[in-house]
Amino acid sequence: MTDVIDVIVAGGGPTGVMLASELRLQGVRAVVLDKDAEPTPVVRALGMHARSVEVLDQRGLVEPFLALGKTHPLGGFFAGIVKPSPTLDTTHPYVLSIPQTTTERLLTEHATELGVEIRRSSELVGLSQDDDGVTADLADGTRLRARYLVGCDGGRSTVRKLLGVNFPGEPTRVETLLGEMELTASMETIGAVNAEVRKTQLRFGAMPLGNGIYRVVAPADGVAEDRSVPPTFEEFKQQLQATAGTDFGVHSPRWLSRFGDATRQAERYRVGRVLLAGDAAHIHPPLGGQGLNLGLQDAFNLGWKLAAEVNGWAPEGLLDSYQAERHPVAAAVLDNTRAQTVLMSLEPGPQAVRRLMSELMDFEEVNRHLIEKIIAIEIRYDFGEGHELLGRRLRDVALKQGRLYDLMHDGRGLLLDQTGRLSVAGWADRVDHVVDVSEELDAPAVLLRPDGHVAWVGDDQQELLGRLPRWFGAAVG
Ligand SMILES: Cc1cc2nc3c(=O)[nH]c(=O)nc-3n(C[C@H](O)[C@H](O)[C@H](O)COP(=O)(O)OP(=O)(O)OC[C@H]3O[C@@H](n4cnc5c(N)ncnc54)[C@H](O)[C@@H]3O)c2cc1C
Repeated sequence: MTDVIDVIVAGGGPTGVMLASELRLQGVRAVVLDKDAEPTPVVRALGMHARSVEVLDQRGLVEPFLALGKTHPLGGFFAGIVKPSPTLDTTHPYVLSIPQTTTERLLTEHATELGVEIRRSSELVGLSQDDDGVTADLADGTRLRARYLVGCDGGRSTVRKLLGVNFPGEPTRVETLLGEMELTASMETIGAVNAEVRKTQLRFGAMPLGNGIYRVVAPADGVAEDRSVPPTFEEFKQQLQATAGTDFGVHSPRWLSRFGDATRQAERYRVGRVLLAGDAAHIHPPLGGQGLNLGLQDAFNLGWKLAAEVNGWAPEGLLDSYQAERHPVAAAVLDNTRAQTVLMSLEPGPQAVRRLMSELMDFEEVNRHLIEKIIAIEIRYDFGEGHELLGRRLRDVALKQGRLYDLMHDGRGLLLDQTGRLSVAGWADRVDHVVDVSEELDAPAVLLRPDGHVAWVGDDQQELLGRLPRWFGAAVG
């Protein structure tokens, strides 16, 4: 059976669901396919960083996340080197601790409210594309047709493999077991064992989650051939014994999982009408807690651009700017996790570099630079020469009448005009024009893309008219 839709999103993890919401916000009919019958109970990510929290804020979604998460200071996020939190240019200068399962549930609720269709037990197994669209083959023999398809199907992405896109990098060298379970050992014993073992093995620990449940980590014995197969509870207990000489009397596991430390990035994020985002496009060890954040921000960058293509107003090159902007960002994250991996080695050489790095981080600017890399507020896309805000995301500045991010919930472009003399006539269907003032904004006017990045700064109407088509296509009317 053939079904006509605008965009198929393969994979209903955080990246896929976020992307589908962004598409839906622009009126695009997006269908999310996920191979699993139910959302996974496995909690991978625990940390959400400033730029992701800002992204949620820009869409009016942040409140439930703040209500269900806990905020923690950011000092210590780079390679676990503990320092005071630096002063950061954001209204969310903390890490939000929230289980990935909760993040996924909240994002899915939002997507569903917007009208995104999420089809579970729908595994993509084949695809082909032509000049007009993409055909996806599902494991149950059904076939779907859409104008575009985005692979948000995780690190082992079927879409990426079907496209034949190379995924160069380093393979997994060490594997870690992760699970949630109950422990019979006392808090004192657990604390003492944790402290002793972590002198020589950092991939070990039992962290209390409340109600007697712990998140337990232990090194695996070697590297499994298929990491999608969870460890057995017996294997988990054996590895605790082998590493710590005790298994803490673990029992009643909620779920068990394993993860590797491979670092890889897709060579291309787009092949014709098929694109890649999130873990499908890049994987790296979880140091600094960046993968989910990176995926959400890929989706935020791609959503409005792909919607512009579907809606017929995308200027030449807009969709390709997704790869041009996001590939270097992920490459930088891969690099910072490589650096953190070295700094966390317990060998004497890396330990000496770690001590040196710790000394350098006593300089506030160094500390801030490294933290900003992780929380992704320092990103500057290359929009050419110009004002220092050009290409950067604008923080949530206070206006005379409210706050900037409250004006961005609909995902449209925005001209924030402190002069009152400018106009977006011809683009009013795609760009809002707000005349207001902010003591926090040192620029006469800024043109913001739907993802909040500054596309133009100035006070000259002719200059603005020259810049609008680059991001918002031709004027109408
Ligand atoms: C131990 C650990 C801790 C982590 N901590 C953090 C952290 O603190 N902060 C952070 O930002 N990141 C963290 N991460 C990384 C984070 O978990 C991932 O980067 C994130 O899940 C990626 O989201 P995604 O949507 O791109 O892919 P996934 O979450 O992998 O989702 C992919 C989805 O696609 C579906 N799928 C797969 N194949 C198909 C197919 N053929 N057809 C249809 N559906 C398919 C899957 O069922 C799945 O639902 C951590 C990772 C690990 C392992």
